Amino acid sequence: MVKRIVLLLLLSSLALPAFGCRKEASPTSRTAGGVPVYVTRTGTKYHRAGCRHLAKSQLRMSLEDAKKGYEPCKICNPPE
Ligand SMILES: [Zn+2]
Repeated sequence: MVKRIVLLLLLSSLALPAFGCRKEASPTSRTAGGVPVYVTRTGTKYHRAGCRHLAKSQLRMSLEDAKKGYEPCKICNPPE
Protein backbone atom coordinates (compact mmCIF):
# COMPACT_ATOMS: atom_id res chain seq x y z
CA MET A 1 0.00 0.00 0.00
CA VAL A 2 2.68 2.48 1.01
CA LYS A 3 4.86 1.35 -1.86
CA ARG A 4 2.08 2.13 -4.30
CA ILE A 5 1.77 5.69 -2.96
CA VAL A 6 5.53 6.21 -3.22
CA LEU A 7 5.45 4.97 -6.79
CA LEU A 8 2.66 7.42 -7.65
CA LEU A 9 4.63 10.29 -6.12
CA LEU A 10 7.69 9.30 -8.09
CA LEU A 11 5.74 9.16 -11.33
CA SER A 12 4.11 12.56 -10.77
CA SER A 13 7.41 14.20 -9.86
CA LEU A 14 8.90 12.82 -13.07
CA ALA A 15 5.99 14.11 -15.12
CA LEU A 16 5.95 17.66 -13.72
CA PRO A 17 9.34 18.83 -15.03
CA ALA A 18 8.27 17.74 -18.50
CA PHE A 19 5.26 20.04 -18.32
CA GLY A 20 7.48 22.86 -17.07
CA CYS A 21 9.84 22.48 -20.00
CA ARG A 22 6.97 22.63 -22.44
CA LYS A 23 5.85 25.97 -21.01
CA GLU A 24 9.39 27.38 -21.08
CA ALA A 25 9.69 26.43 -24.74
CA SER A 26 7.30 29.20 -25.79
CA PRO A 27 8.19 32.32 -23.81
CA THR A 28 6.76 34.66 -26.43
CA SER A 29 3.18 33.42 -26.02
CA ARG A 30 3.58 33.54 -22.27
CA THR A 31 4.64 37.18 -22.11
CA ALA A 32 2.27 38.37 -24.81
CA GLY A 33 -0.40 39.20 -22.23
CA GLY A 34 1.89 41.29 -20.06
CA VAL A 35 5.46 42.31 -19.39
CA PRO A 36 7.03 40.21 -16.61
CA VAL A 37 8.13 42.29 -13.64
CA TYR A 38 9.42 41.33 -10.20
CA VAL A 39 8.31 42.04 -6.66
CA THR A 40 9.99 41.23 -3.38
CA ARG A 41 8.50 39.22 -0.56
CA THR A 42 8.12 42.22 1.73
CA GLY A 43 8.19 45.21 -0.60
CA THR A 44 5.32 47.30 -1.98
CA LYS A 45 6.94 48.10 -5.33
CA TYR A 46 7.50 46.18 -8.53
CA HIS A 47 10.77 46.14 -10.42
CA ARG A 48 12.53 45.36 -13.67
CA ALA A 49 14.78 42.31 -13.74
CA GLY A 50 18.19 43.16 -12.31
CA CYS A 51 17.09 45.97 -9.98
CA ARG A 52 19.23 46.11 -6.86
CA HIS A 53 16.15 45.82 -4.68
CA LEU A 54 15.74 42.27 -5.93
CA ALA A 55 18.96 41.10 -4.29
CA LYS A 56 17.19 39.41 -1.37
CA SER A 57 14.14 37.95 -3.06
CA GLN A 58 12.35 38.21 -6.36
CA LEU A 59 8.95 36.92 -7.34
CA ARG A 60 8.06 37.07 -10.98
CA MET A 61 4.59 38.24 -11.96
CA SER A 62 2.92 39.88 -14.91
CA LEU A 63 2.76 43.66 -15.10
CA GLU A 64 -1.02 43.42 -15.01
CA ASP A 65 -0.97 41.67 -11.64
CA ALA A 66 1.79 43.87 -10.25
CA LYS A 67 -0.16 47.05 -10.98
CA LYS A 68 -3.08 45.81 -8.89
CA GLY A 69 -1.12 45.60 -5.67
CA TYR A 70 2.22 47.33 -6.17
CA GLU A 71 3.69 50.66 -7.21
CA PRO A 72 6.46 51.03 -9.80
CA CYS A 73 9.97 51.31 -8.37
CA LYS A 74 11.48 54.79 -8.76
CA ILE A 75 15.01 53.47 -9.18
CA CYS A 76 14.67 50.92 -11.99
CA ASN A 77 11.63 52.63 -13.52
CA PRO A 78 9.62 49.62 -14.74
CA PRO A 79 6.86 50.01 -17.37
CA GLU A 80 3.53 51.22 -16.03
ZN1 LIG B 1 13.53 48.60 -8.66
